[in-house]
Amino acid sequence: MGKIYLSAPDIGAREEEMCIAALRSGWVAPMGPMVDAFETALAQTCGRQYAVALSSGTAALHLGLLELGAVPGKYVVVPTMTFAATANAVVYTGATPVFVDCDPLTGNMSPDLLDEALHQLRREGSDIAAVIAVDLLGHCADYEAIEEICLNAGVPLLSDAAEALGSGRVGRPAGSFGDAAVLSFNGNKVISTSGGGALLTDDQRFAERIRYLGSQARQPVSHYQHTEIGYNYRLSNVLAALGLAQLERLTSMVARRRQLRAQYRETFSGTEGVQLFQGHCDVEDNCWLTAIVVDSVEARWKPNELETALAAQNVETRPLWKPMHQQPVFAGIRAFVRGDADRLFASGLALPSGSALTPAEVARVHDTIREFLAAPLREKGASRV
Ligand SMILES: *Cc1c(COP(=O)(O)O)cnc(C)c1O
Repeated sequence: MGKIYLSAPDIGAREEEMCIAALRSGWVAPMGPMVDAFETALAQTCGRQYAVALSSGTAALHLGLLELGAVPGKYVVVPTMTFAATANAVVYTGATPVFVDCDPLTGNMSPDLLDEALHQLRREGSDIAAVIAVDLLGHCADYEAIEEICLNAGVPLLSDAAEALGSGRVGRPAGSFGDAAVLSFNGNKVISTSGGGALLTDDQRFAERIRYLGSQARQPVSHYQHTEIGYNYRLSNVLAALGLAQLERLTSMVARRRQLRAQYRETFSGTEGVQLFQGHCDVEDNCWLTAIVVDSVEARWKPNELETALAAQNVETRPLWKPMHQQPVFAGIRAFVRGDADRLFASGLALPSGSALTPAEVARVHDTIREFLAAPLREKGASRV
């Protein structure tokens, strides 16, 4: 029985064809026509003027923060409910992260706590380089509120849309928000280049600076001349070919993820104490991951019991991100929290959501869930509730 992953890559004949074309073209380097075409297609998909293809989403966050002025002694406000890469990139620059709690329903950064954090930091005389908003599991953050708060505070906004390619909010595509936005094409994301990322912006100078910093900060002269520390962060032309093929299929891959969401909605409908996470507001979501939130008092079982039942059938599930303020590596980092991310971490479970799932795999997942839900409480491990 093969393992069913949370979000496995979805690679087909078109991807093979494009990679072979890139290899045969001789452009086997972190530059070339496929990189250029991928950047153009990304910018268009995300409603941006410029896209710079990079080696990872983390690299894009790092360069974006550097260019926004994150340096030692400055602060960057980050949601506590995110993948560690968001906060790690802040630390790479030498700046200090400050964590902010989430909205209990969407898991995205709470605008009023963000506002409070910015005011408090300012009162203390702290220098704030940037705010990062994250589109958790592909659901866009509350940008109407967050963009206004950042504008009023005079702090730039970086949108971490690593999980959100193909999503939208009030008609605007993910990746179009903030001064700049970041995408990821890691193996488990909506589209994959095995590893890769991009930075999106409407500011030509910003895009040029990212391109320059990401290609070793080489001055435009024939001898190697450097006036700044650069990074080797560009995307391979071969991987850009993979990305182009994936991007052609973005709409159908998102449609498949949405269909999987709908199937979970049906399987859990009427189940006491279980809500589809973000399910009340997912009309524009790419449904990167579908998760449930379990009220274990009402449901009389805990998410880890379903996790165990699915693992016995070789099905991968995962709790929602462990909040950054709870991570040992960030012990002592300032956090504006009120328990919402902690509650989501304790009650959430992400379920297999990849667009490459076969009907047989989907059936295995849902049969296991239905069996679990129908089992007597004792067998679910109810004694531990
Ligand atoms: C995946 C992810 C990243 C990092 O992207 P990589 O391409 O893996 O470096 C950053 N932020 C969030 C929210 C992510 O989910």
